[in-house]
Amino acid sequence: MSLTGLLCDMPLLPWLRRTAAKVPLILVSNREPFVHHRTGDGLLVSAPAGGLTSALQPVMAQSGGTWVAWGSGSGDFDVTDPLDGVMVPPDDPRYRLRRLRLSACDLLGFYTETANRAIWPLCHSQLTRFVYDAAHWHTYRKVNERFAAAAIAEAKGRSAVCWVQDYQLALVPQFLRRVKSIFVHQFWHIPWPSPDILRVFPEARRLVAGLLGNHLLGFQTGNDVRNFLASVRRLFRDAVVEPAKGLVRLHGRRTAVRAFPISIDAEAFRAQAAHPDTEARAAELRARFLPGGGTLLLGVDRADYTKGIPRRLLAFERLLMDHPRLHGKVTLLQVAVPSRSEVPEYQAFEAEIAERVEALNLRHAQGPWVPVYLVRESLTQAEVTACYRAADICLVTPLQDGMNLVAKEYVASQEGKAGVLVLSRFAGAARELREAELVNPYDTGAMAAAILKAIETPEEERARRMAALRRRVHRHTIGDWMTDIFEEVERLRPRA
Ligand code: UDP
Repeated sequence: MSLTGLLCDMPLLPWLRRTAAKVPLILVSNREPFVHHRTGDGLLVSAPAGGLTSALQPVMAQSGGTWVAWGSGSGDFDVTDPLDGVMVPPDDPRYRLRRLRLSACDLLGFYTETANRAIWPLCHSQLTRFVYDAAHWHTYRKVNERFAAAAIAEAKGRSAVCWVQDYQLALVPQFLRRVKSIFVHQFWHIPWPSPDILRVFPEARRLVAGLLGNHLLGFQTGNDVRNFLASVRRLFRDAVVEPAKGLVRLHGRRTAVRAFPISIDAEAFRAQAAHPDTEARAAELRARFLPGGGTLLLGVDRADYTKGIPRRLLAFERLLMDHPRLHGKVTLLQVAVPSRSEVPEYQAFEAEIAERVEALNLRHAQGPWVPVYLVRESLTQAEVTACYRAADICLVTPLQDGMNLVAKEYVASQEGKAGVLVLSRFAGAARELREAELVNPYDTGAMAAAILKAIETPEEERARRMAALRRRVHRHTIGDWMTDIFEEVERLRPRA
């Protein structure tokens, strides 16, 4: 069952009942939940599969508010009213989608250059990938101001809660905060770097000032919160920072800063994994990738340089070189979904992964055994779950990651199975998933040793550790994440 389906069936979440009954909810994100395309057969509408938009969609369907997002589809403005809004979902209209028109020039400066070539690498501490240009930053600011103006227009002077998503929209809160009747909350999905890394960004002060427009600012982990508070202290000598309370006061404004670790719909993954079709597909995958039996390793990532795929391949190759007895008995299935192809670094990176895999296979393949299979396309959630079910070991080894949902999804899909999760210490998920085999992705030798250990761990210990991990993932789900956030909104709103 899809996440969307499951949340739609849920009784109205208590916080939603309390908040949405009093004030409209206005969600602001870069991506939209429904896209209209012009095709030869007329106008078609699609909902992007997976990801945050599909998790938030049912919330909006229940709250009946407004969603402000970039109108990215070729037919998006064929269906909107004169104020660029349309009621969605198309087959059961429940809330308003307010689309923003962005030109190619806007998208270049705002999305490609500033969000994805400056802020993304900065926040993932990948400074050799960091590219800054003042003109593009100017566009980022202008586009953020337009997102805010659209949200303010949708509030129509009423009290409202605005929920802003992620790093593309860091300056939106400062514009929203000018309107007294709006409570502003933002969730920052990616890591927040240490102040020493942040200093590299010439606009660091403006970036942080933008975020301090929030009444409530959420991060994935306590470490991100600490880094953010330290950044505020470093950049604003006149700020009052109270780490114990998670509070910043600056120029008469208060911002509460909290950690809200995001999660998954664990039950949906458990149910999908237990489905007979998934079991059958998992058996097919094993027969295909491990014709002679053995151990199946799995990696599932966007082809993004933060995900650590090249170093993972190096560790796998080290394992093969140090332990020839494993030849023919271990295979790595690596899903690397093309991502952000408009960003030059990503095109080159995708090609680099393919070349590395080809070279590794040329060096080590023997007879019918191919050490690494690379999948360069996006799989459905059902197919990803079949991969989780087929794999003995899941390698989640990002160089830096806000949370990493693949780690949690793998665990939730392991009921009745005892797979091993090899997890980077630098993924937000490592703070919760303590029973995983934790690794430093920069240490190739240690990563190879961790994979070997995972292969050799006795069944009983694997089962014990996986059961503990499963309990953790089921104890804190995506529903709990949203509840925690909106309970905090309700606590803070009366004083805002
Ligand atoms: N995913 C998918 N199809 C694929 C590969 C990945 O649907 O072919 C999903 C995966 O199940 C997970 C998400 O994409 O829900 C990736 O989330 P994660 O937090 O691991 O990384 P992000 O891409 O958000 O950085």
